[in-house]
Parts: sequence; C-alpha cells; structure tokens
Amino acid sequence: MGQLELAIILVIISVVVVGSITYIQNQKNKKREQQQGCPVKFHPQPDPVVQVEDEFQSTKTLKEALAQTEKNLFGRLKSLFSNETARKNIDEVEEILYTSDLGPQTVQRLMGKVESELSSKEQSNIGNIQALLKTEFTDIFAQAHVVEPDSKHIFAHLRTDQKPTVWMVVGVNGAGKTTTIGKLAAHLAKEGKKVLVAAGDTFRAAAGGQLKVWTERAQVEIFSPEGVTDPSAVAFDAVAKAKAQDYDVVIIDTAGRLHTQANLMDELKKMKRVMTKVIPDAPHETLIVLDANSGQNALIQAREFHSALGLTGVVLTKMDGTAKGGVAVGLSQELKIPIRLIGMGEKIGDLRAFSSQEFIASLLDLE
Ligand code: GDP
Ligand code: MG
Repeated sequence: MGQLELAIILVIISVVVVGSITYIQNQKNKKREQQQGCPVKFHPQPDPVVQVEDEFQSTKTLKEALAQTEKNLFGRLKSLFSNETARKNIDEVEEILYTSDLGPQTVQRLMGKVESELSSKEQSNIGNIQALLKTEFTDIFAQAHVVEPDSKHIFAHLRTDQKPTVWMVVGVNGAGKTTTIGKLAAHLAKEGKKVLVAAGDTFRAAAGGQLKVWTERAQVEIFSPEGVTDPSAVAFDAVAKAKAQDYDVVIIDTAGRLHTQANLMDELKKMKRVMTKVIPDAPHETLIVLDANSGQNALIQAREFHSALGLTGVVLTKMDGTAKGGVAVGLSQELKIPIRLIGMGEKIGDLRAFSSQEFIASLLDLE
C-alpha cells in the first residue's frame, strides 16, 4: 500500500470517527435538553384553537325540534295507513288532525278538500293524503303572508326601515317574551344596530332583573327607570329617548298578566297610544309571543290580542318541547297573521326565522 492510499484511508477513518462522535454528542444534548424540557430548536407552535361556543349557532334542526310533532301527525297517519281499510281510515285521519292542534276550522277545511278532491280509492293511499296536506298547508301559510326567510338575518322580514323603528312585544306570562326580546336584541346588535330595550313589564318584580341579564348578554342598552311603575310612561320615555339619541330599534317588553284580561288589554292599548305622541306610526311591529305547547289556548290568546292591538306578526316559542306544532297551521288559517320567528331553545341561536317550507317538510316528510 502506497503512502497516498494510506493517507486516504486515514482521512476516511477520521471523517467516520469525527462524524460518529458529533452524532453521539448531538444525541446526548438532545436527550439532556428534552429532560430539561427545553427543545434544541424552537419551532413556534400556533396557539391551540380555543373552542368558543357560538351562541348564534343553533344546535338543532327544525326537524329534530319537531320530532314529537312528526310522531304525532305524519307518524300517526303512517301507522294508521299501514293496517286499516279505506273508509275507516278517513274518519281516523280526521281524528288525528283534530288531536294535532290544527284547530277545528283548519281540520274542516282539510277534510272538505279530502272529500272533494280525492275519490274513495285515492283516499286509501297515504301518498295522496300527504300530498293534499302539503298543498293545503302551503296555501294556508301563503294566505297568512308568511315569507320564506332571508338568509341574511333572522329579522329580515320585520320592519327596520324607520329610525327609530319600534317593536312592541306582547303575550301572556311565561310565553317567552323577555327571552325572545333578549335573543332578538343580540341578533340586531350583531348586525351593528343601535338597540334600546324598554322594561315595560313593570308589574312583575323579577321581570326587570331578567331583562337586564339578557341585555347584558346581548350587549345592548336597557331602559328601566328607577321607581317608574306606569308601563305607558316607560314606553313613552323609551321611544322619546330613542328618537332623541338616534337609536335604530326600540323593543318594548310588556306585562303578560294583570288583575283581569280587560285590564291588561287596556294597559297595552294605552302603551300603544302614548307612543304615537312621539312617533305617529309607532309601534311599527306588534309581535305576539305564543308558547307552542299551549295548543288551542295559543289560538285563543292570539285572537284576543289581535282584536285589541292589531298584531303584525307571531313568534312561536318552545317548538323544541312540543308535540303541538300543528298550532302554527291553525294560527295562520284562522288569523292570517304571519309567523315570523320560532324559538327552539334558550340560546340566542335558538331563535330562528320561520320557514313554512321547512316546517311542512318537518311535519309531513319522513326523510
Ligand atoms: P315571558 O313571561 O313571556 O317574558 O317569558 P320568559 O321570557 O320569561 O320565558 C319563560 C320561560 O320559558 C323561561 O324559562 C325561558 O327560558 C323559557 N323559554 C323561552 N323561550 C323558549 C324556547 O324557545 N324554548 C324553551 N325550551 N324554553 C324557552
Ligand atoms: Mg317577561
């Protein structure tokens, strides 16, 4: 072996030895640094994604919320048709409709159509009954001026064209007025509207506190003057303040119960009257909040409030816990007031624009 070859071999050996020593040293360092909790090289990590619950996001679909109703209406129709004969069926169809809170007037309309448009043979087919109910429900909602929701925001079909626009919210105790007002205020504020909520339910001690919690959550201002017990004074002052201070929307909460129903209606009429002294066409919306669970009572209440106050829209709450979704159809058939919103829970996102198409599908489709 010549000198050159020897030199090359020595160089190779020293490269291998030095390389190995460096590698071993590096591994040792890494191990030590890992044990000390300090990485050799710092790779900046993104902050862990914080899962903030979006309060504006609804957790349920309408179909889920109306699962009970479906079980009662279409589910019952379906099981009926699976094992009965034609004529017997049609009486039982009528009974199912009656017990689904559609209201007698609506049931009569529907049964009249069944008799006039379907032959006996056609009546024995559930597909025909289903199609007929769909057509009739669609027509009933259209006649009540129900408009399909706008994807922009849930209040798209409520008036906001005046500055300030005044919404008065009425309904019996426990229907969900204060909760609905809180949710609505949050949605308006999210869209950049300047909102004032007036605590017009001066008769219940706890009402002011509950409204305050909601306005804080919605980050809007509450108008609740100390010591003022006259709801008309609250309404008047709130509308005057909103006009003077450039608010976009004023929402007025109201009492749901007085000594007598006549007292209540008089008080609400007075509230309405005093507002017109500030803004002649206020309130621009008079919304009734109805608990869907109250079935036929919801219809009776709506009729009474409507004749006293001239309602412009309906909010149907607690659709998440009801087997009586049929009341939405009955209300539309009998009063012709549009259902604008539905409440399906207690979160802000559980207040949704009412879609008659989605509602009908939830009631009458199995998929
Ligand atoms: P008000 O007396 O008309 O003002 O009714 P509240 O707003 O105080 O509501 C009465 C109760 O119903 C409260 O416990 C609310 O949380 C509840 N509530 C309101 N809306 C809904 C809804 O859509 N679904 C459910 N599950 N509960 C609701
Ligand atoms: Mg209340």
